Amino acid sequence: MIGLGAMGEPMAQHLANAGYLSMVWNRTPEKSTQFATRNGVTAAETPAQLAAGCNVILVCVSADADLKDVIEQLLPAIKPACVVCDLSTVAPATARQVAASLEPTGAGFVDAPVSGGVEGAKKGCLSVMAGGESANISRIMPVLETFSASVTHMGPVGSGQATKAVNQVIVAGIAEATCEALALAEKLNLPSQRLLSVVSAGAAGSWFLDHRGASMLENQFDVGFKLSLLLKDLLICRSLAQDLDIHVPTVEAAIRDYSALVEKGHGDHDISGLIHLKRGAD
Ligand code: NAP
Repeated sequence: MIGLGAMGEPMAQHLANAGYLSMVWNRTPEKSTQFATRNGVTAAETPAQLAAGCNVILVCVSADADLKDVIEQLLPAIKPACVVCDLSTVAPATARQVAASLEPTGAGFVDAPVSGGVEGAKKGCLSVMAGGESANISRIMPVLETFSASVTHMGPVGSGQATKAVNQVIVAGIAEATCEALALAEKLNLPSQRLLSVVSAGAAGSWFLDHRGASMLENQFDVGFKLSLLLKDLLICRSLAQDLDIHVPTVEAAIRDYSALVEKGHGDHDISGLIHLKRGAD
């Protein structure tokens, strides 16, 4: 497992619990040495050391350039029978580029972005959207199943990431509407607990409201999905939409909002930090 961030660490923990994990590597080595000590696995010193010793390599890093960087470091040592599976959210074109760079080595590639948040990763009930050859996906299925409720094969390499882009348009739209609604509720002086419970029970209920409604009303934004990462995803959505001549005003509004929040220094806040803007505060 490469990348022990908010998502990668709990996924690695499920792999370790199931007995599948042999090595971890993380850019900041303290995280991998601590994890390895706790779990009795090896903390690789380099991605190449990990590649030399593993048949299945899972990667969960921040963005496209980070994935490409990691793959480049794996390439010299990768085994021909290996399957590399990327769990990060990147552009479909990046997934295809990475698969092509691995092809001469004989290693397979699966793009398998996930949805379900840090909570889903911890509980092992993520939704996995996979792209790649069926044989490669079947080979790594027992590994993916350790942290997921479902693994859905969407088509060739890149289809998992295309599906994730669709997912993120929905995530961003729900966040825009929910943060606006809760900022309005605060101004109306409605009782927050009762509001969340009555709204969640009806047609406006959502994962976001259930998992982030109470915390955002208490001004807690420190756990979850960094809004700088959603901004990265939305730029991918915009680029896909532009290529296909599709108008995506919700995506444009969300890009404006999250760019403003990143500029104000809130990039590491959970995406529910969007309520800052909707309240008219900074
Ligand atoms: P995170 O907590 O910020 O962790 C990012 C990880 O990537 C860290 O292990 C970091 O290493 C590593 N990394 C970053 N740049 C790197 C580079 N150039 N080379 C090597 N390693 C690098 O992010 P996260 O929330 O786990 O998200 C990871 C991916 O999952 C992202 O693509 C995100 O969009 C996606 N995702 C996140 C969520 C969520 O709710 N958080 C849900 C679904 C999907 P260091 O420890 O050294 O910083």
